[in-house]
Amino acid sequence: MDKLEIVSEKLGIPLDVLKKQLGRGIRQMVYRGLEYLVFRREIHGVREGTTVLLGGEPFIIHGYPSIRRLAILEAVPQHMIDRIIVEEKMDGYNVRVVFYEGEVYAVTRGGYICPYTVARIRKLYGDQVRLMAKEYPDTVLAGEVVGTENPYVVYNYPEAGGFDYFIFDTLRGGKLQPLKVRDEIVEKCGFRRVRILGELDKNDVGGLRSIIDRLDKERREGIVIKDPDHRVPPLKYTTVYINIHDIEEGMKHPFDEGRGYLFSRIVRLIAQGYEYGWSNDQLDIIAKRLGKAILKPAIESLKQRSNGGLIAASYTLVFPDYRSFEDYLEYMESQGIDAITRIIEEKPNGELVVELLKVKDTHDVYGKILKTGLSPLD
Ligand code: ATP
Ligand code: MG
Repeated sequence: MDKLEIVSEKLGIPLDVLKKQLGRGIRQMVYRGLEYLVFRREIHGVREGTTVLLGGEPFIIHGYPSIRRLAILEAVPQHMIDRIIVEEKMDGYNVRVVFYEGEVYAVTRGGYICPYTVARIRKLYGDQVRLMAKEYPDTVLAGEVVGTENPYVVYNYPEAGGFDYFIFDTLRGGKLQPLKVRDEIVEKCGFRRVRILGELDKNDVGGLRSIIDRLDKERREGIVIKDPDHRVPPLKYTTVYINIHDIEEGMKHPFDEGRGYLFSRIVRLIAQGYEYGWSNDQLDIIAKRLGKAILKPAIESLKQRSNGGLIAASYTLVFPDYRSFEDYLEYMESQGIDAITRIIEEKPNGELVVELLKVKDTHDVYGKILKTGLSPLD
């Protein structure tokens, strides 16, 4: 049987639909000789971000499901069944990891094999993933890569150092497995897991609030509330701290993150102000923090642009070897990412420290504003 026929059967997508989508909704990619397919959107019930590895025997890595956002904590009982597990929501990027035909692969949320992530995960958890595949075949690990050494989300976690991987779920055949299966895999194979902050009754809204209060003080992102057996979909909720912090980061490049980015976070704060019953004094403090988060970084980057600076996001990457650096350059080109790289250091052990600058659209928009004096918006 032709490989596409196998994929069509495994996914329940008619062969003609699958073929028609190639090069459109489904992108064909290759990583070190391994061909794979990426679902850029949902097709026939197959989730966006699904990857199909096309080695000898095609293997499907289903997309990680989107998590609904809670605006009001008091609504938790409406959505959950009885007991809930409250996990830390870590601020990094979603990575699914599998062992396939003798190698470890790491796939981003969008379904792409990221050569940088693969190189770091292989080095850090290669043996553990191998063991996992032997004991728990066909399992897909889902977790967050966090830390300061990655090209996507830079957030300092003292427990992570530059780069680490924290498992938050395991999937089999596209289904999220009960959390005790995940915990057993983490423990037996030697992975790290996101922190469990509480096991509560769903009606314990006070318990949830005190967890959020603590996280807010500790400058952590938030929580994901899960049914222990994933009988109902999980919910996410983020702290006031991170909602404002995100705005501050995003507003360094206001013409990249867009209005949706800003407004969605303001809506989160509106619900929090309502639910927490902010006093006038509290409102004064939070409103000032919010206002500054919107304006200060945006004004500063405009100033920087007028002084001839480049408006770009800067990242530090550590490649285990030169080959993985080349793989990553090629990958960025295939993704059409406008970036500048500079090797900062070549270590005796072969490691390469690289500075990566992703040039932002704001660079050009700001350039035009400064040149013409005209506003791009009415
Ligand atoms: P989406 O809701 O579609 O995932 P998003 O990319 O904007 O959208 P977030 O708002 O960051 O995602 O929230 C969901 C993501 O949170 C997950 O995809 C996962 O990467 C991350 N995450 C961090 N910690 C956890 C956790 N404990 N359980 C589940 N997901 C977690
Ligand atoms: Mg996230």
